[in-house]
Amino acid sequence: SHTASPMKIVVVGHVDHGKSTLVGRILNETGALPEGKVEYLREVCDKRGMPFEWAFVMDALQAERDQGITIDTAQIRFKTEARPYVIIDAPGHKEFLKNMVSGAASAEAAVLVIDAHEGVQEQSRRHGYLLHLLGLRQIAVAVNKMDLVNFSESRFEEVKAEIVAYLNSIGVEPTYVVPVAARSGANIATKSVETPWYQGPSVLGALDMFEPAKPATDLALRFPVQDVYKFDERRIIAGRIESGRLKVGDTLVFAPSGKMAKVATIETWGNVAAAVSAGAGQSVGITLDEQIFVERGNVASLEHHVPHQSHDLKARVFWLGRGPLKVGSRYKLKLATAEHVVDVVAIERVIDVEDLANHQGTEVARNAVAEVVFRGKSPIAHDSFIDNPRLGRFVLVEGYDIVGGGVIAEASSEDARNR
Ligand code: GDP
Repeated sequence: SHTASPMKIVVVGHVDHGKSTLVGRILNETGALPEGKVEYLREVCDKRGMPFEWAFVMDALQAERDQGITIDTAQIRFKTEARPYVIIDAPGHKEFLKNMVSGAASAEAAVLVIDAHEGVQEQSRRHGYLLHLLGLRQIAVAVNKMDLVNFSESRFEEVKAEIVAYLNSIGVEPTYVVPVAARSGANIATKSVETPWYQGPSVLGALDMFEPAKPATDLALRFPVQDVYKFDERRIIAGRIESGRLKVGDTLVFAPSGKMAKVATIETWGNVAAAVSAGAGQSVGITLDEQIFVERGNVASLEHHVPHQSHDLKARVFWLGRGPLKVGSRYKLKLATAEHVVDVVAIERVIDVEDLANHQGTEVARNAVAEVVFRGKSPIAHDSFIDNPRLGRFVLVEGYDIVGGGVIAEASSEDARNR
């Protein structure tokens, strides 16, 4: 439908494997580039006696953005017949990993670009692993520069086998592996005559078959409390509904206390009339039929669909701190509106993203990934990232700095014993 919100995608892969070229091509093939842009850049290149690169188109768009010429500041948009898309991170963006891990960006699907000639490289694996870490399950692999290997089916199968084996080893099933030549546009928007042996979809065809993320309104209610305001005898509990819906008369359960009360009224800001129901994405204030103790950081949900709660939290962490993360260190863990003081009680494994070897260690260095167990002073309400990303990811803060991001791989209501 035309009112669908754009599907968010990321394009990742080793440097020089052709991410910018692929994006430039996609924009060109879908008519998303400003009229005459490509012709103009080709002319400039001709005059300077240099070969035209699709990456220049990206650079030109970026330059316009930096000067504030285009309205859309951070995101690259295009549209197929199936739906609109937005590429939420430009290739080569240095904040990419940080954005992905801290939740600033949350993609629904990814394209992993691999040079057919060079094959799978360290960064290909690293990016593949991060996609997995971030809970991305829809991955199209573009085996690029097929022209450099004469569109050889056997070379394609070799590279495909290598990346599929790697992705499988980390629990990811790549949805499609497509042989492409981004520079000439082969298998980008339409099937190429140069790969008659290939039966699958083009890159855009693959993207069009991906499932859009479930709308947050379809998930269980998660209403993290931002503030509690007191007016006379009334208390207004304010926050943003992160997922699900609530309505007047619903019985809410507040984590961590487990206290329950019914929604008496819903006040939406800027709207004088009270609402009878509200859903994900809305900021609301509610009153309850009973006075129970509620404070910032609590999470309201519906009976039978409450989040997990435990003192211990096992998570995959991407560490960005200057110094290493160590067993025994203490951090502030921010999950929705809650801030927990947590201690690192165990580093179960430090994962080398190159060979995926598990190292036993008591430290996690900057830019490394690890499975870490945190222990809070009070129970932490959470979901697994797959069940509900809104309550399934967190950031770690030290002082005023974000020093890491994490996703909750296994939600559990049990604390580890004997630690
Ligand atoms: P990025 O660093 O991953 O964004 O890579 P670029 O898109 O900048 O591409 C790196 C180089 O590979 C450039 O010189 C491109 O022209 C070249 N390249 C990209 N796609 C293809 C292709 O399909 N075939 C060939 N032969 N070269 C390509």
